[in-house]
Amino acid sequence: MLTQNYDQVIQNIQDACGRAERKPEEVTLIAVSKTKPVPMLLEVYKHGCRHFGENKVQELLDKYEALPKDIKWHMIGHLQRNKVKYIVDKVYLIHSVDSFRLAEEISREAVKKQVHVNILIEVNVAGEESKFGCRPEEACDLTMEIAKLPNICVKGYMTIAPFVENPQDNREYFRKLRQLSVDIMRKSIDNVSIEYLSMGMTGDYEIAVEEGADFVRVGTGIFGERSYIV
Ligand SMILES: *Cc1c(COP(=O)(O)O)cnc(C)c1O
Repeated sequence: MLTQNYDQVIQNIQDACGRAERKPEEVTLIAVSKTKPVPMLLEVYKHGCRHFGENKVQELLDKYEALPKDIKWHMIGHLQRNKVKYIVDKVYLIHSVDSFRLAEEISREAVKKQVHVNILIEVNVAGEESKFGCRPEEACDLTMEIAKLPNICVKGYMTIAPFVENPQDNREYFRKLRQLSVDIMRKSIDNVSIEYLSMGMTGDYEIAVEEGADFVRVGTGIFGERSYIV
């Protein structure tokens, strides 16, 4: 089941790349495994998946310990400053940096542990009240400020698009994020190389790929619905 789902998502990404005249190698699928048990991750790992996304620090740490060390872990959820120290040396990319204070903490802990941390700035492109992320107008200044900090490197931007019935409705937000990244890239900020856009989830990743996503974050489409225990 899982491996079939995974293959289907890969196929859909390839098809979207075809439509957009992009190379499939440009797009990395992150299997979003939050709430799912280790054996399920292992099944997808054995099938070839090396990028996994989690949104809670403790869960990421538990799975990091339990699973092979060549996995690239993506922190995609809201990150509290007091938890940064547990993950800076374990994550491949933090997608959810939306304030200078959080970036400062990541930088401080990265210096302490003598690692370099790659991050994306989360942008609330659609301006939804309920979502984290900086406002699009703030993204450039935030990029420039973070660029001055040691041991942290801004690699691009992430957005979570609204929940919609018709994924086409999110195309404009993916376009906006891409345009924003192009505008900031043109400023050639020292110590910043914008390489990645992280956008697209189960409902809309094909549209996101058509609009230039480098990372897509797919959970339900691979692992099935999540059941949260309350
Ligand atoms: C849960 C989550 C996803 C995956 O959502 P699906 O709709 O299950 O694919 C992607 N990105 C973020 C930030 C998430 O929290």
